[in-house]
Amino acid sequence: LSERLSGVFDRLTKQGALSEEDVKTALREVRVALLEADVSLPVARDFVKAVQDKATGQAVTKSITPGQQVVKIVHDALIDTLKGEGEPGALKIDSPPAPILMVGLQGSGKTTTTAKLAKRLKDRDGKRVLMASLDVNRPAAMEQLAILGVQIGVDTLPIVKGENPVQIAKRAKTQASMGGYDVYMLDTAGRLSIDEELMRQVEAVRDVANPRETLLVVDGLTGQDAVQTAENFNDRIGISGVVLTRMDGDGRGGAALSMRAVTGKPIKFVGLGEKMDALETFEPERIAGRILGMGDIVALVEKAQETIEAEQAEKMMKRMAKGQFNMNDLKMQLEQMLKMGGMQGMMGMMPGMGKMAKQVEDAGFDDKILKRQIALIQSMTKKERANPALLQASRKKRIAKGAGMEVSELNKLMKMHRQMGDMMKKMGKMGKGGMLKQAMK
Ligand code: GDP
Ligand code: MG
Repeated sequence: LSERLSGVFDRLTKQGALSEEDVKTALREVRVALLEADVSLPVARDFVKAVQDKATGQAVTKSITPGQQVVKIVHDALIDTLKGEGEPGALKIDSPPAPILMVGLQGSGKTTTTAKLAKRLKDRDGKRVLMASLDVNRPAAMEQLAILGVQIGVDTLPIVKGENPVQIAKRAKTQASMGGYDVYMLDTAGRLSIDEELMRQVEAVRDVANPRETLLVVDGLTGQDAVQTAENFNDRIGISGVVLTRMDGDGRGGAALSMRAVTGKPIKFVGLGEKMDALETFEPERIAGRILGMGDIVALVEKAQETIEAEQAEKMMKRMAKGQFNMNDLKMQLEQMLKMGGMQGMMGMMPGMGKMAKQVEDAGFDDKILKRQIALIQSMTKKERANPALLQASRKKRIAKGAGMEVSELNKLMKMHRQMGDMMKKMGKMGKGGMLKQAMK
């Protein structure tokens, strides 16, 4: 009897585990996919290595090849890596006026993103925003921001010819305080590549403004050099987050993974076009699928896993409906519950059991209790486990003592065993349409 049940539960592991060779072979393809998505070489290498250690020995789902299983593991690991801590897209903009410093290379999309973000803060969060361009290098840059400001209905700092970036930043701060703004955004000038002068300039501005957020704007289509840029800005300026632009293009967005790996800072937003509302909160799931480019395999594995879970639940319910439920079964159930994150996790898998899961939880089913209950069953003899009716006073005393617990705790366990047996029987009938027929009468 117990063998049959354990067969159901262990099927996943008995299907076989991923060998080192399986994992290596599949990861070779994954590595190529990452490089094709423009993930930087060292980042791709490190990532693949980390997954290799994690994947070897993991179970392979029935009807899935080892290679497909590895792809799914990689996909999940990608999401994990891309996910930053905290709320996606959240900005620290309490204590007005909160300065936001926008940095990045020329042409990365700083000015556009400054305006997009200002619009978002105004429309979504009801913030009063002041924008200031510190770009004294390109003559048209300040006008560009002023025009965007008019377009989106956000104030810009009046342009004063002959000021340097630090002077403009100071004036923006004063104006933001006096004007009662919630946020002021500083759009800095960029160079085509990192240079000392640019970095010194941005440092000086940072020291004057003391920004609450420093957002690095990176072109999502740039590949290998994006890493160098991010490293430099993060080391010298200290960034609080990243915005990836041009994610509306054909690129697979590997820069996202590189950025996370190199800076450790969250990617907060993605730019999806030139229009002012083309800015979205970063979604790791979406980008992970795009970087890997193996969405169909991931979907296939997910489907197979769902099917198996449903099959397992159904088999179990059939058995329970027949009243085949002794202490061995209960022990296995309890162990399974522990594995699956408690009773709720398990019942959540079965259709129509949500309400019951709540009741069982209210009855006090946490991990500690589960472990104590398992210990009680372990203290029973084989015969007793197979036939709980044997459990009379003297046996109960022995069992409780063996587990270092009170008889009252064993009584509770036995009561639960009876209740669960009844519950499962009812569920079985419901599954066959019994309840439904009754309701239709
Ligand atoms: P800056 O030099 O860093 O200030 O860059 P700009 O904000 O001036 O942007 C340079 C160009 O990129 C402009 O033509 C923008 O319209 C364009 N751009 C910025 N963000 C995006 C984006 O998310 N998608 C697309 N397709 N174009 C963008
Ligand atoms: Mg600009």
